[in-house]
Amino acid sequence: SEEKSLNFIEEIIESDLETKKYDQIITRFPPEPNGYLHIGHAKSICLNFGLGLKYNGKTNLRFDDTNPVKEDVEYVDSIKEDIKWLGFEWANEFYASDYFDKLYEFAIVLIKKGLAYVDDSTAEEIAKQKGTPTEPGTGNVYRNRTVEENLELFQNMRDGKYADGEKVLRAKIDLANPNMHMRDPLLYRIKHVPHHRTGDKWCIYPMYDFAHGQSDSIEHITHSICTLEFIPHRDLYDWLINQLGIYPSKQYEFARLNMTYTVMSKRKLLQLVEEKHVESWDDPRMPTISGMRRRGYTPASIRMFCDKIGVQKRENMISVGLLEFCVREDLNKTAIRRMAVLDPIKLTISNYPEGKEEILTSENNPEMPETGNREVAFSGNLWIEREDFREVAEKKWFRLAPGAMVRLKSAYIVKCTDFKKDEQGNITEIICEYIPESKSGSDTSGLHVKGTIHWVSQAHAAHAEVRLYDRLFKVENPSKEEGDFKSYINEHSLEILPNVYIEQEVKNVKPGEPIQFIRKGYFTLDNVHTKDGKLVFNRTVTLKDNWEK
Ligand code: ATP
Ligand code: MG
Ligand code: MG
Repeated sequence: SEEKSLNFIEEIIESDLETKKYDQIITRFPPEPNGYLHIGHAKSICLNFGLGLKYNGKTNLRFDDTNPVKEDVEYVDSIKEDIKWLGFEWANEFYASDYFDKLYEFAIVLIKKGLAYVDDSTAEEIAKQKGTPTEPGTGNVYRNRTVEENLELFQNMRDGKYADGEKVLRAKIDLANPNMHMRDPLLYRIKHVPHHRTGDKWCIYPMYDFAHGQSDSIEHITHSICTLEFIPHRDLYDWLINQLGIYPSKQYEFARLNMTYTVMSKRKLLQLVEEKHVESWDDPRMPTISGMRRRGYTPASIRMFCDKIGVQKRENMISVGLLEFCVREDLNKTAIRRMAVLDPIKLTISNYPEGKEEILTSENNPEMPETGNREVAFSGNLWIEREDFREVAEKKWFRLAPGAMVRLKSAYIVKCTDFKKDEQGNITEIICEYIPESKSGSDTSGLHVKGTIHWVSQAHAAHAEVRLYDRLFKVENPSKEEGDFKSYINEHSLEILPNVYIEQEVKNVKPGEPIQFIRKGYFTLDNVHTKDGKLVFNRTVTLKDNWEK
């Protein structure tokens, strides 16, 4: 088997374990419950949970729910469902909001050490007083408040004596530090907003930088892995842990996943949902885990993708084609094969006995012979794809045309003798003769035909709707283009085929079960639109990468 080289985080962990810095590693996945998880989160999940598994450690799920405004239980539930579906188990389910008391105590410790103060300035004043990267900040009178004064004012903040924005708690670090994040960063702000878990208990909430590292420390996280934007936050992460003298968690940064033809920010995804550019968070075109699940992507294919893209220290852009490649790889092995005619036209076999039916057999999955065969009903009245017939056969046309022969998959060879048109000139029916000795498996006809096409018997077909999906955006990186990202939405990303005929038996598959409609791609039953006897299938992915480059 081929040895995969270690990524830079694995190297750090292996060295930490070798030097016995830790007996066991603990990682965490820390989503903010303000949206559904997307494929970028999958990268972080596979990384954090994957490290926990690989090194016999633990991984916590921690909801980073310190901002009461945009958070919701609906999101908490969806996040848990998605992680489980991806195949991972968390050691503990924690909430940063459970640490609000502890964090408040930490703030008091800093105030008592003279390392935090209450500031009455407005956000604009604070920003101005911070200086610029080349000029030090100026500070203000509040910076000189005494410990006693700060303790009292902070208590008053907590007791709800001030309006939103009237005061903040800041760390007292260094107004000349080249790292702007160290110039007396905000630790607490006032927000008279109830929280989805703590209700009305708090009207002050910790800032991300004060909550995150301290939560890591409380949980004894050994390797706190986040994305590159947090590099400038690392000094503050370490400073707070040092000053508080608490468990020294360490922060490491990797490049976030960017993928072509989509957007990955929750704010933008929310806009697509709210402004109805898509149906919902789990619309099959969305880069969300739930959208991909509904579309028919499998957990194994997403894990394979995350494994292939690896872990880098530099931002890059991954082609969505790689994700689709992984989906095909997995589905080729696992999907049962069935026949479905997406754009039906009648094929009538003129020499097949009137009223006769036959039960033929066809393989379930040639990649997995152990899955055996299925029975398929055949008759003289079939549906075939409109595109499998041409009035005039050009060179190298191996499908149907007047006088031409093809094999009907797992059935007989037929020869086209005639076709019918309506008044508008549309072809309405193809007439063929079949060769009785050419039955698949016992063919004694001696005929050799190059083309094989799929078909469904009219009397034995189930009716369905099929939904084909294309990229959600017309450009590779809609977030980098000029103007509103929504002006790059592909208005043809959904094509509905209302009149599809499939083998009867496909009616019994469950949403999420993968099926290959032979020659047409991989599909799965849609769990939202399939109801009241109506079958709706989503195309998960085409059989081949046929996107124009
Ligand atoms: P957004 O910018 O969409 O709001 P976020 O980073 O604020 O994303 P969180 O819920 O805080 O979303 O993310 C949880 C974890 O997932 C974080 O550790 C974050 O670093 C990671 N993550 C988010 N987006 C990506 C991405 N595109 N690639 C890799 N990891 C990501
Ligand atoms: Mg975040
Ligand atoms: Mg965010």
